[in-house]
Amino acid sequence: MKPAPFAYTKARSLDEAIGLLGTRSEARLLAGGQSLLATLNMRLSAPRLLVDINGIPSLDRIDRKDGMLEIGALVRHAQAERSRDIAEHAPLIALALPHIAHPAIRNRGTIGGSLAFADPAAELPACLLALGGEVEIAGAKGKRTVKADDFFKGLFETALGAQDVLSAIRIPAAAAQTRVGFAEFARRRGDYAIVGLAASARADGKGLADVRLAYFGVGATPIRAKKAEDALASGKLEEAIAALSSDLDPPDDIQATGKVKKHLAGVLLKRVALQLAEKRA
Ligand code: FAD
Repeated sequence: MKPAPFAYTKARSLDEAIGLLGTRSEARLLAGGQSLLATLNMRLSAPRLLVDINGIPSLDRIDRKDGMLEIGALVRHAQAERSRDIAEHAPLIALALPHIAHPAIRNRGTIGGSLAFADPAAELPACLLALGGEVEIAGAKGKRTVKADDFFKGLFETALGAQDVLSAIRIPAAAAQTRVGFAEFARRRGDYAIVGLAASARADGKGLADVRLAYFGVGATPIRAKKAEDALASGKLEEAIAALSSDLDPPDDIQATGKVKKHLAGVLLKRVALQLAEKRA
């Protein structure tokens, strides 16, 4: 299929992009285009104006600031995979990136696009949630910051408003005690996950503290399994797996029933718990 007709313009600054979004009620930002163009071609969406943000300088930077790693919205998945800063200071994201689609898509897809699109089976939204990160949003009234816990509102729905641009994400830079784990089930390498789990914790003596378990593919948004987090922090893995019954209520979908997904969530927790117990090299 071909998309419905639309106008196209390229913004040179964040302010210009925000202004252009305000000129039409059905304007949409274009980043890597890997999700947006598919929805246009299938006529699942029909914006009247595409505002291309690929020409906005400095949105493709990766910086360390005040103990945080800041990743610009236009950083491509492939660029992030090659980044030493991400490998060193955001090892959870480094673990997750190779699971996103295929190299051709990772060459164009952006971190900001992935978070703004907020596919419930996507890897990066769950990583941001597991890391307790935050999103920087530039809007008509200036910049604001939204915590990951408050950013994902519903199915493909976030705290972004119609005239907002996600400009960067920030995550606490990994410390010596930081532990991370990542695992997912997908039918084939590169497919969206049937169920996935991104996790972070802080090594505390022989155990773990500040455990954050963010599941994806189990609901409308990435979901924290809070009872399982508490059990894992108490060193009780079997109790943590049992707690998933009340933490998660995955609906059936075309890939698997909710019951199967719940079972897989427990299997993933076993794998990720082993990773959390290990210090990464
Ligand atoms: P675009 O397609 O350009 O935009 C997506 C949406 O986000 C649009 O509504 C756009 O307006 C909005 N948007 C983009 N940037 C911003 C911004 N800075 N601020 C506000 N709104 C913005 N993803 C996964 O996570 N896991 C997978 O396994 C996976 N598999 C894929 C398989 C295929 C075949 C394809 C085509 C895609 C797959 N993806 C997967 C999606 C891929 O990661 C996309 O790159 C990503 O979801 C969207 O990023 P983008 O830069 O291409 O955004």
